[in-house]
Amino acid sequence: MSSVPPGTGWPGDPATADTPVALDPADVRRLAATSGTLAELTARQSVCRACPRLVAWREEVARVKRRAFADETYWGRPVPGWGDERPRILVVGLAPAAHGGNRTGRIFTGDRSGDWLFASLHRTGLAARETSTYAGDGQALIGARVVAPVRCAPPANKPEPSEKATCLPWLEREIELVAPHVRVVVALGGYAWQAMWPALRSAGYELPRSRPPFGHGAEAEIRYGDAPVTLIGCYHPSQQNTFTGRVTAQMLDDVFQRARSLAV
Ligand code: SF4
Repeated sequence: MSSVPPGTGWPGDPATADTPVALDPADVRRLAATSGTLAELTARQSVCRACPRLVAWREEVARVKRRAFADETYWGRPVPGWGDERPRILVVGLAPAAHGGNRTGRIFTGDRSGDWLFASLHRTGLAARETSTYAGDGQALIGARVVAPVRCAPPANKPEPSEKATCLPWLEREIELVAPHVRVVVALGGYAWQAMWPALRSAGYELPRSRPPFGHGAEAEIRYGDAPVTLIGCYHPSQQNTFTGRVTAQMLDDVFQRARSLAV
């Protein structure tokens, strides 16, 4: 099997067999814009087939598998936004990992980056458990939500510019739906920092005229109506960054503690 059919009992599967499927960029724009709730939006995200290269890759990975997970069923579908439905803190990554989110169906779940991220979120009071290993493991985010600007695992972790553009309306609509609650946005890595700019603008945020450079701990003050909102940059907890010490557990904790202090 190359992906889990919607509505067949996977823990947390937001879709059913009747969820409409986006087949091209225009479908993504239309189905994102007409999603009235997060439940509807995440269901539609999770069955999207608008990027032929990414659909083929995610399903091929799900069919071939990695030896360590040979006995498991892979999700093999887009990984929707996940977490609190009224988040004070929005955490933005890049894309699901081929044998992480693409296997477990939950963002940052079942891979090394997620081990670092969730451990830090737990230490800083934003996640119920220290680990996030599979959908239905009891993990829950507390006042936080995690989203990826590209929702399908890309080959070599590198989505094409056209794929980033095709997926963007899913992110824009998700931000619109949670914006009344969000006070802090944490961008994990330079791409998330960059991708958030147009997404925040189209969701109705007021942004500074020029985008400050990305850096670990960089902050930009933005507004949503009368509410001040802070965008914080954080190095991505990728294996390369954690292995080389470019990002440490303390550095992640510092960012999420800062986010929590701003979000109260
Ligand atoms: S990357 Fe986004 S737009 Fe492309 S198929 Fe996946 S969910 Fe759809």
